Amino acid sequence: MTFWGGRWRDSGGSSRIPVLNPATGSILAESVESSPEQIRAAVHAAAAARGVWNGSSPSERAELLNVIADALEERAEELALLVTDEVGTPIAESRRMQLPTAVHTFRSTAAAIEDLSFREMLGTSVIEHCPIGVVAAITPWNYPLYLAACKLAPAIAAGCPIVIKPSEIAPLAVTVLADLCHAAGVPEGSLGLVQGSGETVGKALVEAAGVDMISFTGSTRTGARIAAQAGRLVRPVALELGGKSAAAVLDEALLESAVRQTVAKCFQNAGQTCAALSRLLVPGHLKAPTEELAVAIAGEYAAGDPRDPQTTLGPLASKAQLRKVRRFVRRADEEGARVLCGGWDLPAGVGKGYFARATVISDVSPEMEVAREEIFGPVLSILAFEDESEALAIANGTEFGLSGAVWAADAGRAMRFARRMRAGSVSINGAPTNADAPFGGFGASGFGRERGRAGIEEYLATRAIHSVANG
Ligand code: NDP
Repeated sequence: MTFWGGRWRDSGGSSRIPVLNPATGSILAESVESSPEQIRAAVHAAAAARGVWNGSSPSERAELLNVIADALEERAEELALLVTDEVGTPIAESRRMQLPTAVHTFRSTAAAIEDLSFREMLGTSVIEHCPIGVVAAITPWNYPLYLAACKLAPAIAAGCPIVIKPSEIAPLAVTVLADLCHAAGVPEGSLGLVQGSGETVGKALVEAAGVDMISFTGSTRTGARIAAQAGRLVRPVALELGGKSAAAVLDEALLESAVRQTVAKCFQNAGQTCAALSRLLVPGHLKAPTEELAVAIAGEYAAGDPRDPQTTLGPLASKAQLRKVRRFVRRADEEGARVLCGGWDLPAGVGKGYFARATVISDVSPEMEVAREEIFGPVLSILAFEDESEALAIANGTEFGLSGAVWAADAGRAMRFARRMRAGSVSINGAPTNADAPFGGFGASGFGRERGRAGIEEYLATRAIHSVANG
């Protein structure tokens, strides 16, 4: 189905896309691709709604965002199960991460509106920060609700109509979110949802007449294509792309915590997290104890039914993703790295579904593929360094720059290292990520920031109106 103008409509497309449960391979639902006419109609309705928020105050929009957050919370368990079924995230993790991050995004955006000044004076000129217009939003499957919330909430806050295309792999929870937004009172026309594959529907949405800005989360490969399209159309674009993030352990003091938290950040959502800490950098003399710890901790991740609250490692979201991850591990072995645990076979006790094994690889050197490419699976690489400057060179040595972590007994030393990491977000000694802080990347991890005030500013354009003092 396709949503625009305040109701669901027949998608009109000829292609039917099965939504699979990755734990079993069985069909959960089927979506029908939005036809080109339906995509155009959704964008047209959004363009017609450009001024619909004009009469609303920031506080009213903040209130609406909180109503959506309440509605998400009310249906949290049902939605957590839906995400678990369509993505494969273990239910405990869906309850802890998938849902609360989406709820928090609406609430924190509501709070951030109050900090923003949409209008300020500069001498006798008025500087206005106005809604940029119709946003075409494209999101991936790994955190479907949260990543959709990262686009819907700031669009509402800024007063922009938005048309969203979730991934065909996991579109179900986002369709419920669209219903909740509508029921909460998002004005007619200002919200559209189109369904189908990226190659057809995503491309058509990016190019549709009436789109004023594109906000994309996904792989660097697709992001580069969209940026090229946007460039030809002279449309602003915000890109939240892939990562190959490093955790650098500078000394022995916090080794066990560092390894435990890095493994957890790497294996979260079966490694399908853009900010996954997939490279663990340790001084050469700590390599052996690090390997021992990492293997022991990885052994605690048992693949199993994602609906079982005890499961810590769910399946990957698709067969294609599984093949990709297994190929990376095999290539690492061929390139001379040492696969300490896991590997490219199916995990024990799992008969069907797209399960990868919790894998730790050592003797990885920075030029190996496994150290450079985003894997998006439960695969941790251990790299050894001689001194701090080499650690920094390795950490900053990929094309990406999304997130990072540093561990050191001396907090000042850790801070100095963190400030030299080329990453949009760095954690020191296991500090949890502040979910209100801006999030985004350097280099091939994209440009633009989401969350909080910075996230709303992405959807605003500046206008200066000059008048004489007494006019
Ligand atoms: P993809 O780039 O394959 O897909 C992302 C979205 O783009 C999907 O909705 C997809 O549609 C769509 N798409 C694919 N091709 C096109 C196209 N030519 N034109 C327009 N849209 C298109 O990424 P994945 O879904 O595989 O997601 C994983 C990637 O997302 C990883 O690289 C990860 O790091 C990144 N990511 C980044 C985050 C960040 O904040 N920086 C957060 C989370 C993930 P469909 O799937 O329906 O074909």
